[in-house]
Amino acid sequence: MSKLKKSEKRAAWFDQGMMALQRIAPEASGYMCPLCYRIFRREELEMPNVLACEHVPPRSLGGRELVLTCFRCNSAAGASVDAELSKYVTFQSFLRRDMRESRKARLMKDGHALNVLLRWNAEALEIIDYGNRNAPCVARGLENELKHDEAERRNWTLRLTLGNVYRTGWPEVSVLRAAYLAAFAKFGYQYIADAALDVVREWINNPNQKVVNSCVFPVPDALDDVRSIVLVKEPAAFRSLAVQIGKFRVFMPVFEEAGDLYERLAKPHEEKIAVELSGRAFPWPRHPEFLFDFNRSFLAEMHRYLSN
Ligand SMILES: [Zn+2]
Repeated sequence: MSKLKKSEKRAAWFDQGMMALQRIAPEASGYMCPLCYRIFRREELEMPNVLACEHVPPRSLGGRELVLTCFRCNSAAGASVDAELSKYVTFQSFLRRDMRESRKARLMKDGHALNVLLRWNAEALEIIDYGNRNAPCVARGLENELKHDEAERRNWTLRLTLGNVYRTGWPEVSVLRAAYLAAFAKFGYQYIADAALDVVREWINNPNQKVVNSCVFPVPDALDDVRSIVLVKEPAAFRSLAVQIGKFRVFMPVFEEAGDLYERLAKPHEEKIAVELSGRAFPWPRHPEFLFDFNRSFLAEMHRYLSN
């Protein structure tokens, strides 16, 4: 599987997905996009812009190609939420001072705004440019004011606004989407067909909608390359599928028709309590595996494992 050409890889993933789908829906013929549920015929695989191998997690988190999704899902919602995640990642590293890249910002003083370019040096945040970013009279005016204030020994009160910050909630959708696709690659259609996952797909496909934030928990101390999938058994309130991608841990329902997981998690999410999870861990998938579809006894075993 390692050195397959791109088109051969797509074809292999298509066929495997088609077979997996037939295990749970024998009348189905084709590959079903795990995000929009549209079914694609084999001939469509060769057409441009129909099905593509998607990076999971997105490239900004160091992901690699893992599953086939349809072009519409991949490029429409996918690209825009992933771009917000990328901005979020850059923003976080700026806050942690572990980057040397410069960043646009806006300084406010007494109602006047100055556009600046900032960068961390060893000790502090440094303004590396403002002259080229403002009307000359604005820049000169503020320079004069600064000199005047210095002479008068007056302190500046500054308000700093960083530019190009991510859209609230979208990075979470991007991570949720990655976790969902990783779980799909691991467990297959049988897993995502659970009615409790309808709401998750709805959030992924409509990023403007408010996502229940208790599905994504931050893990600030985790390394960025951590990848794990755990069928969580204890504590009982967390019984779910937990997918960790670096500093994010995503919880998704599993074997659960009622789908009250996010209500159970609301309180722990709000209280930001660090919890020790225990359960059954699975190696991160490197290609689609669809374990539940192809191995019914394994599916039954996992079901039993969680329910008693
Ligand atoms: Zn799709």
